[in-house]
Amino acid sequence: EAKQGGRARIQLFEEGLRERSLDRVRIEQDLRRALYRRGEFEVHLQPLVDLESDRLWGAEALVRWRHPAQGMLLPGRFLSVAEESGLIVPLGYLVLSEACAAAAAIPGLVVSVNLSPRQIHDPGLVPTVADNLALHGLPAERLCLEVTEDVLVDDRTIGVLEDLRALGTRVAIDDFGVGASSLKQLRRIPGALVKIDRSFVSGLDSDEGHDDRVMVKALVTVAEQLGLEVVAEGIERPEQLAAVRELGASIGQGWLLGHPQRAAAFVTAAGSRPLVRRGPRR
Ligand code: C2E
Ligand code: MG
Ligand code: MG
Ligand code: MG
Repeated sequence: EAKQGGRARIQLFEEGLRERSLDRVRIEQDLRRALYRRGEFEVHLQPLVDLESDRLWGAEALVRWRHPAQGMLLPGRFLSVAEESGLIVPLGYLVLSEACAAAAAIPGLVVSVNLSPRQIHDPGLVPTVADNLALHGLPAERLCLEVTEDVLVDDRTIGVLEDLRALGTRVAIDDFGVGASSLKQLRRIPGALVKIDRSFVSGLDSDEGHDDRVMVKALVTVAEQLGLEVVAEGIERPEQLAAVRELGASIGQGWLLGHPQRAAAFVTAAGSRPLVRRGPRR
């Protein structure tokens, strides 16, 4: 009987695998179709707030997919398929273009665009970034490109980041502290913004948050020494905001400061919101 139960479990497991890979095949087909037809992808913008002045400094561009049958999909549902299939490259250029257009509509705003490993290795990246800046009349220092720390261990990627910086764009290291890089790697990207992963921020207002406080403090200290700016991600509660401010983060992001919203709505709302101008530290 136990053996039968085991077999049934294995069968269920295999069905689950098959279901999941079918799901991936379907998502890839739908992605391909949506990229040709356009109109289903939306760029949402989430505010990045200067913690010294409480003013809007920039916005992160976050892609959403308004799927005809499945409704609004977050990146977690389709990004890995896009990455594996290479479709992230054309999708990423669509996001880049919309993000630059939105930023150009808000004087002084910095827009921050996520780049996956596949996008960084695309030979068209640097010329396409340059084209978009020119097309939208966006000064290069108002575009920031976010990469995760894992790409910092790769010399080829560092070369691409240097080329982007030579254009004058900013670079941010996303989700810092949970990946494969070490503090030492931060020296390879002078002037970067370091986005401390949400997992360090979430515990800051709890009694168990002592270790997180120690780590955020250490990171801010290292970043300051290297001339880097620290962004705190995932601020949801006032106590967390107070903590990251006290620990010395210079920019904040999170639901407490603003949810992601459609680019058009963000542009309208930003029109009535004071902006801070802060030059890149180089
Ligand atoms: P990320 O770059 O770290 O972006 C921040 C994520 O945290 C976003 O999730 C955002 O909606 C979410 N977030 C913001 N504030 C809070 C908060 O206070 N609490 C919590 N719990 N979450 C918060 P989202 O939009 O689902 O994106 C997930 C990831 O997908 C992003 O993480 C980024 O790595 C990737 N991604 C999003 N858009 C793009 C894109 O256009 N291109 C590429 N290559 N990757 C993208
Ligand atoms: Mg990001
Ligand atoms: Mg992040
Ligand atoms: Mg994150």
